[in-house]
Amino acid sequence: MEKIILKPGMQHWDSFISRLRGHGGCNFRKASDPFDETFECDSTFRFSKKILAQMTEQWPSFNFDIEETIKWFRSQGHMCDCQVIIKLGKKKQ
Ligand SMILES: [Zn+2]
Repeated sequence: MEKIILKPGMQHWDSFISRLRGHGGCNFRKASDPFDETFECDSTFRFSKKILAQMTEQWPSFNFDIEETIKWFRSQGHMCDCQVIIKLGKKKQ
C-alpha cells in the first residue's frame, strides 16, 4: 500500500492539527498575563508521531508515512510539534 506524507490542505490535515493542539497533543490553552496562550512542547515531534499513528489506526486506508511526514516538516523549517501548529495550523481565511 502506498504510504502518505501528510501535508496542509490534504484530507485529515485539519483533524491532525486539531488533535495536535488538543489534550492529546500540545494542549494549547488560554493563559494569564503576560501570555495569551500556553502549551506543552518538549522540542520534539513526539505528539505528531503519536497522533499520526493513532490516525493510521483509525483510518487504515490512510497509511501515513510517519517518518517521511516528520522529515517533510523539518525540510520546511519546523523543528517540533508546536512549530507545526503555529506555522502550519492556521485556519483558512
Ligand atoms: Zn515546540
